[in-house]
Amino acid sequence: MNPIPEKIEDLGEWINQNKNNYLRNVDSSICNKWRDYYYYNETPLPCCCKIRTGDCIFLECFYKVEYAKELVDNKKLYISALNSYKAIQHNSAAIMEWVIDNEALYNNVIHLNPQIRVMTQLYPHKSHYIKLPQQELKEILEFKNVFIKHFYSEEYENY
Ligand SMILES: [Zn+2]
Repeated sequence: MNPIPEKIEDLGEWINQNKNNYLRNVDSSICNKWRDYYYYNETPLPCCCKIRTGDCIFLECFYKVEYAKELVDNKKLYISALNSYKAIQHNSAAIMEWVIDNEALYNNVIHLNPQIRVMTQLYPHKSHYIKLPQQELKEILEFKNVFIKHFYSEEYENY
């Protein structure tokens, strides 16, 4: 696997370079979840292979890089949601409506973290980390944090 680039503008190229490898591995991997994801669009759950094979680790890296890249490509959606939040952030009734309106958008970013973590070994536990370009993710992560803050508030629970 080529090393994962640190700049978001290079992620697309990395994805293109690794796409064939990805498609080959999807079909040959003993980890069925990648086939279920690719052919039936089922969300891959964390891996429970007793021994993680290189192809399964690669498939997970690819999946997570592509996920982050797609979110960044759609960054303007999150910036716009954040701007409408900032306009109403002192009006709690309006915030509750904002939470309702933005739940689907939040579901897209539910798995986004400042870095990608890929578990490489179950016992003893070992993980590989891929740092994502923080500047590119800034507004998306801010949207996620603001949403979580209100979605899990007592106020929203009683709304
Ligand atoms: Zn696996």
